[in-house]
Amino acid sequence: MDRGPGRVLASVLGIYVHIPFCSAICNYCNFNRGLFEPGLKERYVSALLTEIRQEGDGSRADTIFFGGGTPSLLEPFEIEAVIDACAEGWDLNGDTEITLEANPETVTPERLAGFRGAGVNRLSYGVQSFRDDELVRLSRLHSSAKAAEAFAMARAAGFDNISLDLMMWLPQQAVSQWLESVDALIALGPDHASLYMLEIYPNAPLRDAMARGRWSVAPEDDVAEMYLAGLGRMDSAGYEQYEISNVARPGRQARHNLKYWTDGEWIGLGCGAHSTRSGTRWKNLSDTEDYISAVERGTPTATDRRVLSADQRLEDALFTGLRLNAGLDVGIVRQRYGVDVWARYGEQFQPFLDRGLLSYDGSSLRLPREGMLVAHEMMAVFIG
Ligand code: SF4
Repeated sequence: MDRGPGRVLASVLGIYVHIPFCSAICNYCNFNRGLFEPGLKERYVSALLTEIRQEGDGSRADTIFFGGGTPSLLEPFEIEAVIDACAEGWDLNGDTEITLEANPETVTPERLAGFRGAGVNRLSYGVQSFRDDELVRLSRLHSSAKAAEAFAMARAAGFDNISLDLMMWLPQQAVSQWLESVDALIALGPDHASLYMLEIYPNAPLRDAMARGRWSVAPEDDVAEMYLAGLGRMDSAGYEQYEISNVARPGRQARHNLKYWTDGEWIGLGCGAHSTRSGTRWKNLSDTEDYISAVERGTPTATDRRVLSADQRLEDALFTGLRLNAGLDVGIVRQRYGVDVWARYGEQFQPFLDRGLLSYDGSSLRLPREGMLVAHEMMAVFIG
């Protein structure tokens, strides 16, 4: 049986832990985060531990992902306490992937050794660019040199599974400058990389900074070139693309994120975290104070709890399945949801097939790279 990404219907849980603190707020960010305050952080970690004790039901789980925010602002002993609580609440084994998102300016050799000792075995650094002028425009706190140093420190601390994030389509970024960052990333040799396009949301402070600085972003044709050329360089360097924005060395795909893309199940802990389990989806209170107060009072943290309809589950499986290079296995969809994807959507897909933006070999629907660039148009077919 093909066990590649896109073919595995994960049934073992993933655990997501949200850490909503940052040292400063980046001008493009619309994640659920706020400024770091030591007292608030202590109450938050304590609330998290309480939530974990309440939620843990002994089920099998094989990934823990600390996302944020900036999880590396927590002390190693706090990360360890959360991991230990998860190990008591769920059935983890020695092969659990434990990822910590980290910002380069927050790490030291001692802190990294502490995280490693706590059980973290995968680091994901938010680098975004290896050009200092671009990092300044994004109001990031680190420099390119600091990112390279943080990477070397992590290797020295024993991390053999490191992911780096980069963003393309930055203000004032030309194709050649984007490729400089890609080359710098390749020179470091991470095990995994995520290459995202910057989306500037309507009220982002970055919009004002762009107006003041008269900065602009590259035309869409250039973005297509950034995407295709960047991934081309990753191919040549031995990385394998497995999702629209993600590449990895063989065997180093992000196991946790694959649960989101393969119709899997996960529990989200902490403020604003989403969970999907047994056909039900819910979200925790978003505001950090509201979340802590609810845990302290013993009232529910979950909001928006809803049972997913068969159509909603099918739509999610189609959306996420097409993000993967392995494509969407129409046989599995038929088996799981009783829907013949081809019979239902084939006619709408035809224009994309004719333009070479989608392929269908009778068992899988796949987006070639050019198709991934217009994935949003294609996915509109499912909700059209
Ligand atoms: S470090 Fe990340 S989460 Fe924090 S403000 Fe910047 S982009 Fe947002």
